[in-house]
Amino acid sequence: VSRDPHEAEFHQAVREFLDSIVPVLAEQPKYREYGILERLVEPERMITFRVPWTDDQGRVQVNRGFRVQFNSTLGPYKGGIRFHPSVYAGIIKFLGFEQIFKNSLTGLPIGGGKGGSDFDPKGKSEQEVMRFTQSFMTELYRHIGPDTDVPAGDIGVGAREIGFMFGQYNRIRGGHEAGVLTGKGVLYGGSLGRTEATGYGCVYFVQEMLATKGLSFKDSRVVVSGSGNVSIYAIEKAQQLGAHVVACSDSNGYIYDPEGIQLETLKQLKERDRLRISEYVRIHPHAQYYPGSTGIWNIACDIALPCATQNELDAEAAQTLIHNGVKAVGEGANMPSTLEAIELFLQAGVLFGPAKAANAGGVAVSALEMSQNSMRLSWSAEEVDDKLQQIMKNIYRSAVEAAEQYGTPGNLVAGANIAGFLKVADAMIAQGVV
Ligand code: NDP
Repeated sequence: VSRDPHEAEFHQAVREFLDSIVPVLAEQPKYREYGILERLVEPERMITFRVPWTDDQGRVQVNRGFRVQFNSTLGPYKGGIRFHPSVYAGIIKFLGFEQIFKNSLTGLPIGGGKGGSDFDPKGKSEQEVMRFTQSFMTELYRHIGPDTDVPAGDIGVGAREIGFMFGQYNRIRGGHEAGVLTGKGVLYGGSLGRTEATGYGCVYFVQEMLATKGLSFKDSRVVVSGSGNVSIYAIEKAQQLGAHVVACSDSNGYIYDPEGIQLETLKQLKERDRLRISEYVRIHPHAQYYPGSTGIWNIACDIALPCATQNELDAEAAQTLIHNGVKAVGEGANMPSTLEAIELFLQAGVLFGPAKAANAGGVAVSALEMSQNSMRLSWSAEEVDDKLQQIMKNIYRSAVEAAEQYGTPGNLVAGANIAGFLKVADAMIAQGVV
């Protein structure tokens, strides 16, 4: 904390993790002796760079770019790129830190990294997004590669931005290096099922939790925050499993549709037209729009899936959800619940799937995209989805077992942190003090 006192989100992520692994450190002194914690919280490398670009009026704009290469013990750095005005070092470091353990949990050979910029894509023309993205990659390209660091998308970075980055990387490198980015279009090396993977994976994870209490998505009432990549595919899978999804949101407000969210409308508005969620009620006048995104947690539901952004669900929202009888919470976004909210859910006995575990499906399928690129093969959508389901089951089982082994049965926050940590820590010891 004394080194980077203003990085609040990073401290929050580290604190949640440290609280969980106290019993492991007590039982196994070797992790202290080898300085594992001190090494884990310090990124191997933090790159900051200038991103100059010209807007449609011909004015020069300057943004700041970041890439944190946090931990490469298990494989090449892997983690998305976020474009959002709130991005600064503390956000990138919290995301990169989480990514180390999430990637470890997938069981696949990937290390932890993350990147982004304080560029705001909202209201920018496609040409502006392209010019910015090309400038971003003109600096980033020298730090990444298929065997060193493989970025993907995150908030504000979808298939369009990945495509622009991929084109620019290859232009600079003078060839076609398929494995340098994931989340690519399927026409040029992307994996089938990657777009859906985080949202679907989150629902698969929650399904495992629900089954322990004889519950399921069928006929349950679900609230999903956000209306981006993760949210849309969490809604799609929940609906396929028979759930009644009644609300979703964006950063301006939320919609409540008692008849169930019309997914095709949502895809049209958000994926193709890039409009605000408030437009939904113009097409479906029986639905209601409410300004302010956090009010979404006042809607009574059986299952809540926060899929928008960090700290979107605080103690007050958690209390309301518990009061309204929520049975399960699955974190599709990264760190969407505050530490106080998590504590309340755990105390109330709500089934709680923490982000590291519940949203790992995206990066898992990204790693499968890397495998397909290396083999120069493409798997079918069914094959990818089968592997995704198996990976989510394995993550769930690892978290359950680690929680039991270290004295906190049923606490998947502790279980996911411990299971993710053990693999990285043991591999760090094996590789010496580097
Ligand atoms: P998108 O950009 O596709 O969508 C983000 C959604 O969240 C939008 O609806 C956006 O609304 C909303 N949102 C963003 N910032 C805020 C804010 N400050 N307050 C309220 N709402 C906000 O991003 P993704 O769906 O890809 O990412 C969502 C979350 O999931 C993030 O936490 C990300 O790190 C995490 N995640 C994503 C993965 C992926 O594969 N994409 C993998 C694992 C985790 P608006 O349009 O108004 O900004």
